[in-house]
Amino acid sequence: MPVATAYERLRAELTGAVKRDELMARHTTFRIGGPSALFVECANLADLARAIEVCEGEGLEWTVLGKGSNVLASDEGYDGAVIVLGRDFKRHSVVDGHVRSGSGVTLAVLVQEAFNIGLTGFEFAVGIPGTLGGALAMNAGFKHWACTDDLMKMTRDGRALYMHCLPADVTGVSCEAGEVSAPVFERCRLDTYRQAGHKPFVIAAMILATRFREPAEALRLCLDAARPRRLA
Ligand SMILES: Cc1cc2nc3c(=O)[nH]c(=O)nc-3n(C[C@H](O)[C@H](O)[C@H](O)COP(=O)(O)OP(=O)(O)OC[C@H]3O[C@@H](n4cnc5c(N)ncnc54)[C@H](O)[C@@H]3O)c2cc1C
Repeated sequence: MPVATAYERLRAELTGAVKRDELMARHTTFRIGGPSALFVECANLADLARAIEVCEGEGLEWTVLGKGSNVLASDEGYDGAVIVLGRDFKRHSVVDGHVRSGSGVTLAVLVQEAFNIGLTGFEFAVGIPGTLGGALAMNAGFKHWACTDDLMKMTRDGRALYMHCLPADVTGVSCEAGEVSAPVFERCRLDTYRQAGHKPFVIAAMILATRFREPAEALRLCLDAARPRRLA
């Protein structure tokens, strides 16, 4: 039983917590996901190296999880080990006017730290609900695909609408090689900006859904209270 053996070995050797059958719904932004066979919190680099060594030695699949904001975990669960980065990876410091950060630090904290020491350019990330490691894993090196006129022609009647969370990386406009070509973005500019206006409501709905066990009941209580709204 590779899971049972890996569990015993990691529990004995790691500083961080090691659990079995941990529900992923507890660790994903959308509060979804069944149990992962092993859940391993690595407090430091030595823990991480050991966790990977043991998993691979036991033939157990493993993956790293950040804040879980870009993960749709299956209700059926995961047979392998989910590794999360603990204590040491959540530290950051300021060295010679630079921010030095562990990959488990959240983007909101990093933006605030950059702001505190007068560094600009990273403000766009303040509302992204993930970690530095997650952001790098999701974004770094993704330059092999861009939405161009040729690709748009392949959509139904060639008239699909290109939509993207703003700000979009527009090739030749906001960067050298982005995710969408200028003509495609331009054609959909008004619709994109119109849709972007809905983003605060989507985020508010997500906050409601994640902070309250019974979101519908929370809304009903607000309605029942019938407090008059004071709009300035
Ligand atoms: C409301 C909302 C708005 C968003 N807006 C944006 C946006 O504007 N721009 C944007 O880029 N993204 C956006 N995202 C997507 C997501 O939040 C980011 O990609 C985020 O940076 C992912 O970080 P995470 O820690 O949550 O990673 P997770 O969701 O936990 O993991 C994502 C992937 O990264 C890997 N990973 C995580 N941590 C590490 C690590 N330390 N080392 C190696 N691999 C790792 C995981 O294995 C997984 O494959 C948004 C998400 C939501 C819910």
